Formats: sequence, structure tokens, C-alpha cells
Amino acid sequence: MEKFEVKAYGTQSAEAPLKQLNIERREATPKDVEIDILFCGVCHSDLHTARNDWGGTIYPAVPGHEIVGRVTKVGSEVSKFKVGDLAAVGCLVDSCRECSSCKQDLEQYCIPGFTGTYNSKDKHLGTRTYGGYSEKVVVDEHFVLKVPQNLDPAATAPLLCAGITTWSPLRHWKVGKGSNVAVVGLGGLGHMAIKLAKALGANVTLFSRSPEKEKDAFELGAHAVVISTDEEQMLKVSGKFDLIIDTVPYVHDTNHYIPTLSINGTIVLVGYLGPLDPMLHTVPMIMGRKSVAGSLIGGIAETQEMLDFCGEHNIVSEIELIKMQDINEAYERMLKSDVRYRFVIDMNSLKN
Ligand code: NAP
Ligand code: ZN
Ligand code: ZN
Repeated sequence: MEKFEVKAYGTQSAEAPLKQLNIERREATPKDVEIDILFCGVCHSDLHTARNDWGGTIYPAVPGHEIVGRVTKVGSEVSKFKVGDLAAVGCLVDSCRECSSCKQDLEQYCIPGFTGTYNSKDKHLGTRTYGGYSEKVVVDEHFVLKVPQNLDPAATAPLLCAGITTWSPLRHWKVGKGSNVAVVGLGGLGHMAIKLAKALGANVTLFSRSPEKEKDAFELGAHAVVISTDEEQMLKVSGKFDLIIDTVPYVHDTNHYIPTLSINGTIVLVGYLGPLDPMLHTVPMIMGRKSVAGSLIGGIAETQEMLDFCGEHNIVSEIELIKMQDINEAYERMLKSDVRYRFVIDMNSLKN
């Protein structure tokens, strides 16, 4: 297989900072789209992967799965894209396309396993997949998304993960006009959850540990803010929410939020991966037919649906544009919940 080298930013170990390195990309095959990356969002999953928080990171690791760029080459069988188009790539670059999940447009739940944009086995090169902190990416057109023309491309990048990860549960649990939705944590995912739920017609409440984010939450569209460490404020929202989207990246007490669910309400965990501590108490769930669920990003068709919805409603992410060279500092700020509300890398900075 023919390949070429591109500049990228990645890390060689969990403890090492990210720095510049070279990686290989395949020459576009007949079904591939080659994209010159303009912008790449910085997801908390990038940090988890770089630092091996979840185990399973194989180094070197090149994160980045919120990619917006310009098409520079297309294979002979590509029909959706042409050179010069704006295009986007999210968390998935391949799947088996044959299993029951793939046939239902749920590639994120591909039974033999999807190919992630980074830290997955690369079916073409046999190495690992490398993400969007790089000059170019080459992806099968099925996994490439169209970007609405009216949206700012830099602020669109975070929709490819933060947007779809919150959109998918909003749609699955049929949030619409009059639904009561709460969001836990005001970061990248949390701020998109507020914007999308509001645009779907829901009444949205933010649960946050950070009182200083209250004003921003209202500007983003929240109807109420509850400081989750304040027991009195928590009691006031008992039995209120049809759906809670919990975006907190680290272990925390899920039991704390269950009493705020309505009868038949669901709390969907999208942030933390791992065993809950303290354990879940079943009584508050049983006494109200409440559910605790999980959800992973979204399929390709659903991602396009979300992008089109954002185009129609003029929804993008609130971003702070950074240079590639500032990524290690951005990770430190992310750990302090000091992101308003997504870092996006201007990939031009890598070319210099
Ligand atoms: P982020 O921008 O860092 O935001 C996380 C927010 O959670 C923070 O701003 C903070 O909000 C709150 N928080 C942070 N640490 C906390 C703690 N120890 N206890 C309570 N609250 C805490 O992260 P993100 O990019 O939105 O990602 C959130 C999580 O989702 C990450 O773990 C990421 O890996 C995961 N993720 C999952 C999927 C999926 O498909 N399921 C997809 C993308 C990302 P406040 O200051 O408001 O409290
Ligand atoms: Zn992500
Ligand atoms: Zn499959």
C-alpha cells in the first residue's frame, strides 16, 4: 500500500508531553477522501487516551476526533465529495458494515468493533490509527461528513464529538418541546447538550460544581442552574427531569442525581468509563421506574442529521482557538475545568 508522511502531534508515553512527530497516511484508495485538516477540537477523551486513563493506549498516540478540513483528493469511486469541499470526520473511521448494528446505522456499536479515529487497529496500514492532530487524514467516504456552509468551520469541529455524543441521547430518549432535561458538568459536552436540548424545545437545567459558570449557562440557553454541592438546591429539583445527561469525566456519586429524575426518568452516563463508586442504590430507581443508562457518540447518519440540524438552527460550539504547540497547556486547563467551552486547534500552526 502506498503511503506518505505528514506532520502530527502525539505522545510516546502516558507521562510524556505531546510533541511533534511524523506519521504515515495511506494514499487514497478508490473509496477514500484525503482531507487537509484545518481545525481539530480537543476532547477530554484525547487527554484520557494520551495519558492512558482507560488503559489500552498504544504509543505513539496521536489524538483528535473533531476534524474539519478541505478535501484535497478523492478516490475514483467517491461520489459524495469533490476536491475543494469542506468535510468533517468524527470519532469513527471504519466499521464492519455488515453486523446488525452497522445495518441499523449504529456503527458506533459495531459488534466486531468499530475503528476509532485514533488508537484503533488501522485495517489498511496494520499500524494504529492516528487522529486529527495532524496535517492530513485519509478516510473512507462513508465516514466523512458534510459541513453546513453557513457555520464557522472552527466552531463546527466540536460538533463531531461533543455535539453528536449529546445529540444521540437527546434523540434516543425523544426529547422535544416541554421535556425537562438536565446536564451534569459544563464543559465541551455539557455546553453542546444545553444548546441542542434547548433547540429541540426542552427546558434545560445545568448541574455544576462551578458557581462562576452560572452566567454562561444562562447565555447558552439553560433555564436554571443547580449547584450540585448545595443540598437545598438539589432538593428543590426532586422528581423533575425526564432525562439527565451526565458528562462528568471522573468517578462521582451517580446516586446523588437519581432523586431528581421524574417517574420513568433516565440518567444517561456519557462521561465516566468505569465502575461507579459508591455503588448504585436500587431503591430510588425501583421506587419510580428510573433508569441508569450509557451512550456512545452516534452513528454516521445521525451525525449528519445533527450537523444539518445545527446548520438550520445556527448552532456551533463556543471555542477558544489555540495553536498546536499549546496543547499540553490546554490539557492542564481542561483538568481544572477551565475551558470555555472547547479548545479548537488551528492546524495551520502545525504547518509553520
Ligand atoms: P470537559 O470539557 O473537561 O468537561 C467536563 C466537565 O465536567 C467539567 O467542565 C466540569 O464541569 C465537570 N467535571 C470535571 N471534573 C469533575 C469531577 N471530578 N467531578 C464533577 N464534575 C467534574 O470534558 P468533555 O470533553 O466534555 O468530556 C466529558 C467526558 O465525556 C470525558 O470523560 C470524555 O472522555 C467523555 N466522552 C464520552 C463520549 C461518549 O461517546 N460517551 C464522547 C466524548 C467524550 P463543572 O465545572 O460545570 O462542574
Ligand atoms: Zn470526543
Ligand atoms: Zn458492524
